[in-house]
Amino acid sequence: MICFEIEERGSKRLIEEVEAMWTSSFDLHCHTTHSDGSLSVDELADEMAKQQVKVWSLTDHDTIAGWDEAKRAASERGIKFIPGVELTCDVELPWNREILEANSRNRPPSSWHLLAYFPHEPLEDGLKQFEAWLSPLHEDRVPRMLEMIDKVNAFGMKIDPVDVLSRAKGSVGRPHLAMAMVDAGHVESMNEAFEQWLGDGRPCNVERPKPSLAEATALVHAAGGITSLAHPRYYGVDYETLIQHLKASNVDAIEAFHRSHSDDDRHRLWKLAEAYGLGVTVGSDFHSFNGGHRPGHMPVVINALPELISSA
Ligand SMILES: [Zn+2]
Ligand SMILES: [Zn+2]
Repeated sequence: MICFEIEERGSKRLIEEVEAMWTSSFDLHCHTTHSDGSLSVDELADEMAKQQVKVWSLTDHDTIAGWDEAKRAASERGIKFIPGVELTCDVELPWNREILEANSRNRPPSSWHLLAYFPHEPLEDGLKQFEAWLSPLHEDRVPRMLEMIDKVNAFGMKIDPVDVLSRAKGSVGRPHLAMAMVDAGHVESMNEAFEQWLGDGRPCNVERPKPSLAEATALVHAAGGITSLAHPRYYGVDYETLIQHLKASNVDAIEAFHRSHSDDDRHRLWKLAEAYGLGVTVGSDFHSFNGGHRPGHMPVVINALPELISSA
């Protein structure tokens, strides 16, 4: 039995969910040095084992470079590995400032993140097609970064591209440039770097093409996989509208049980997903130990997981 603290008409109350069977042995969302995480695949696999995770998916941003390493590392530790990836997709619905602020987000989302999972061996032809589609999304990151650094330099803020690229152990991204700007004294904080210069629509940002949820999901399905919208709390969209949009885009699930979600988010998303026939997924979104984060320890309802995952 699990208790949820839910909010109704401005007041909070506890409810018990006694019928469902719960598990804390899944962690389907985390990052390594192949993208913006601070641990190597082996170090993360050690942590997963230590935290009693039995089913683990590695979901680095726009890259599947860690799959082979992770598959080996998981099997050495008796963990079931599910190949995964977190795809950077377009923002598809307008955001509402009140909802964003209620969720302590001070910036509108620049992208939506879609988790893709391949619980059984991906279908070979579909996977080749998927990889061919994915690689420019990943490789575009360096040329785009160099273009952004040029723009920053043109505003008189001297930044060495080697410094920025060397901060990224895997995929380079805007946070690495923001950190370099803070260290060089051009801005006070990462937040200022984004607000003034690097955020969407700001003068040093370089847009890159992003796929739609429907396009990404169609390719994942062709390779035998399924998709789940990551951290739905970040997008500033009413949950029911969001879930209807996922249904229309053929997305299979929603990450109702994300580390950042309150009980109320988890409970509402789970019940809405059930009502609309979507699965739910669970993830720590672990990047590093900063802020006391750790992988695992995320209870989820077993029969709400997509069948491909619960039977993996
Ligand atoms: Zn994400
Ligand atoms: Zn993530």
